[in-house]
Amino acid sequence: MLYSKKEKLDLYLNEFMQLEKKLNSNLSNTLTLNFNKHRGHIVFAGLIHGNETGSLPAIIKCINKLLQKELSFGGKVSFLLGNIEAAKKDLRYVESDLNRSFGESYKGKLTLERKRAVELMPLLKSADVFIDFHQTIMPSLKPFYIFEMNHDSYHWARAVGGASTLVTRKKGAPFSQAGMCSDEYVRSLQKIGITLELGEQGFSDSAETLAFSVLKRALKCIDKVFSSGISIEKLSRKNNDFEFLTISHREPFDSPKKCLNAGFSNFHKLTKNMIVGADERQNPLESPKDGYILFPKYPKRNSTGEASMPLPGEIFVIAEPTLEHPLNWLKA
Ligand SMILES: [Zn+2]
Repeated sequence: MLYSKKEKLDLYLNEFMQLEKKLNSNLSNTLTLNFNKHRGHIVFAGLIHGNETGSLPAIIKCINKLLQKELSFGGKVSFLLGNIEAAKKDLRYVESDLNRSFGESYKGKLTLERKRAVELMPLLKSADVFIDFHQTIMPSLKPFYIFEMNHDSYHWARAVGGASTLVTRKKGAPFSQAGMCSDEYVRSLQKIGITLELGEQGFSDSAETLAFSVLKRALKCIDKVFSSGISIEKLSRKNNDFEFLTISHREPFDSPKKCLNAGFSNFHKLTKNMIVGADERQNPLESPKDGYILFPKYPKRNSTGEASMPLPGEIFVIAEPTLEHPLNWLKA
């Protein structure tokens, strides 16, 4: 039988709720399994953005396999579904972006999402390692990790594998006024926080397969680090190093008429002066440099070609290879 996207989501959410009930979870849309052989605790998140549902089938498969002892694991593992309300409405968020709502110094409104972030923060605080599954709006030529450069988080991502590209950046200002991303919040607590973009948003076999393999390998890594005392750096060096990219240009979405030519996927190659779209006066919009396009935006437009408000901050960004190994950024 073929299910619609909505029916699929309901089936998976329902199954998660049943499992949650069975395991007496005390925090809604989360569940924890503790095998008590070592003290390592890993937390996985899906649906931090509601319409990025691709990891959900793998999360449920992983829980079932752990319960049925088909997957062996000795530590503590938690799974959290970030924004169920948005997922049910097929939206990224309902009132504000959950992934900008974490942290103690949040200054925004007390939205649904901020309330959820506050609810989730104690669980994140208790994590040694946190892996957040996301998906991009448009298709992607490959999956990728994306997070601010950090020694241990980098080695964890490389050890866990699943993507050969890391889009990274130098450490920013320590105390931002805006709310934090979930992984950023965990890193601010000196723990491991990494984000993996699985590909285009929604259910797909490729997202499920990739997320499941990452779940399995991350559990193995936690076991090795916490019960055998093997360093994550040693595990990481068994895998090839990443291709490192950093975002070097952000094209502002500063006019509702500004638009991109159809058909850009994440990682399509851009060359300097290549025409990529049209500006607010419908003159050609050129790429300012060579690189790879990321996060191309194609919002709904009205009959006169104006994108619906509010406009996203940027219509696309350009990532290019880093000039040096980003570990060098960490040397003072
Ligand atoms: Zn996301």
